[in-house]
Amino acid sequence: MLALTELAFDNRFIRELPGELVADTSTANLPHQVYGACYSLVTPKATTKPQLLSSSPEVAELIGLDPVAASGDTFTRVFSGNQLLPGMQSYAMCYGGHQFGNWAGQLGDGRAINLGEVVHQGQHWTLQLKGAGPTPYSRHADGLAVLRSSVREYLCSEAMHHLGVPTTRALSLSLTGDKVLRDMFYDGHPEYEPGAVVCRVARSFVRFGSFEIFASRDERKVLKQLADFTLKADFPELLANREPSPEVYVEWFAEVAARTARTIAHWMRVGFVHGVMNTDNLSITGDTIDYGPYGWLEGYDPEWTPNTTDAEHKRYSYGAQPNIGLWNLVRLANAIYPLVGEAKPLEDALKVYGETFAQCRAADMAAKLGLASYSEGDKPQASDGELIESLLELLTQTETDMTIFFRQLAQVDISPQADQLSEAEQLAPLMDAYYQAPSHKVITATCEWLSAYRKRSQQSLRDSGESNVDRQRRMNAVNPKYVLRNYLSQQVTERVEQGELGAVDELLEVLRHPYDEQPEFECYAQKRPEWARSKAGCSTLSCSS
Ligand code: AMP
Ligand code: MG
Repeated sequence: MLALTELAFDNRFIRELPGELVADTSTANLPHQVYGACYSLVTPKATTKPQLLSSSPEVAELIGLDPVAASGDTFTRVFSGNQLLPGMQSYAMCYGGHQFGNWAGQLGDGRAINLGEVVHQGQHWTLQLKGAGPTPYSRHADGLAVLRSSVREYLCSEAMHHLGVPTTRALSLSLTGDKVLRDMFYDGHPEYEPGAVVCRVARSFVRFGSFEIFASRDERKVLKQLADFTLKADFPELLANREPSPEVYVEWFAEVAARTARTIAHWMRVGFVHGVMNTDNLSITGDTIDYGPYGWLEGYDPEWTPNTTDAEHKRYSYGAQPNIGLWNLVRLANAIYPLVGEAKPLEDALKVYGETFAQCRAADMAAKLGLASYSEGDKPQASDGELIESLLELLTQTETDMTIFFRQLAQVDISPQADQLSEAEQLAPLMDAYYQAPSHKVITATCEWLSAYRKRSQQSLRDSGESNVDRQRRMNAVNPKYVLRNYLSQQVTERVEQGELGAVDELLEVLRHPYDEQPEFECYAQKRPEWARSKAGCSTLSCSS
């Protein structure tokens, strides 16, 4: 493990791809259209009083850094944008995107500045500061981020990783010491909030919109350069010894489709709602990226979206996510079409998305119910589909906490004799999941469902030769006990604002083991308290961040 100054940088992205040539550094960070370039060289904004709030030892190790070195003055200065290490070269990336269904033109890293690519064990990791000041892509905004949104980005990146969901990572979270003006409710009452910076880490920060921008401007040469770079850097197994060709681009597109499907299936499994699935917020590697107004399902409701901007149309609600993944892939297919020259192969490759998603979904749901022997590629029993659908329908009847319900399902007595128990006894393990008392009708329907579930579970155990304890263990490995409930990040932010700087680390520690019982942290597994139901930042969020 290395000291900070020993990290090895190999900045392929800016070395191999065309960048913006800036003649006058005094205007380099001012907003402007950038043509024919994948990035602009920019410098992070110096901050008044950087203060490290938290760093992730696992991410330090990922990039080869000794976790002990992930603290101290130099670390804090570098990862708050006040100093570059030898080998670093800072830049902002150019991309476009479809926002809420409409082409939005150039977007780009408006408040993200890359520091370079660190290489560890043959893998390149791009380090990126979010909230580090203006860039050519900042449009009308300031390039900064506030503490509440940075706590959310930092914690969720790591929570998702520990849940087993492909995601960008987060190395550190720092206060800048500067105040940032935000109109949190978009109601004309802006207030100053503490500024913060997160250092994100990913194999790549290239998005679907990174290709769309060049296609939209008919900058085909750069489009091809970026596609070939991405193939070489992030999909080397697809290239093998081949040169990029229409055939390779189609295989690549199919692989992106499969990865996107798998990631969105994971979101559905853990109850994550991204909130802004614009094409600029979908990573080409399939990692979850850009934690803005995301949220976690509390009451199971496919129509729920945390994003107040989307409250009316619910374009990015929980249940809409799989279809939006497909919609976004069609935009990507259009963008890379000039490299392929034919629509049919891309249309065929797009089918991979639906197939992969359906397989992952069936396997995940079977696993959530504790039914054995499902893996990607297995054919689910048709009757399991009905069992799953009828359960999901039941969960919408009474406001039911998704996380608690599935976690507690492992505790339900599945022995044949349990059918003889009273309704109250049968439902006892699940009662904690309900936000309101279920009606008599729901109670009866749930007991009927449990009866069918018992029969299927017993058959599954007979087939696999497993015990009930095995079943519970498997269920607990896919049904998390701890997720980043919406109000928890807000509580942590308020504690930090009141001077309790260790609050972030405490919650992060819990989220590192989402599938384990952690009796001392039972409080973080509780269902949403009533006060948080309508409190801003706790269940609904605007894009103001
Ligand atoms: P989002 O959908 O939140 O990921 O952001 C859409 C676009 O707005 C991206 O190009 C961001 O870089 C940019 N953006 C968001 N917030 C800011 C900000 N405070 N300053 C500058 N650009 C921003
Ligand atoms: Mg974004």
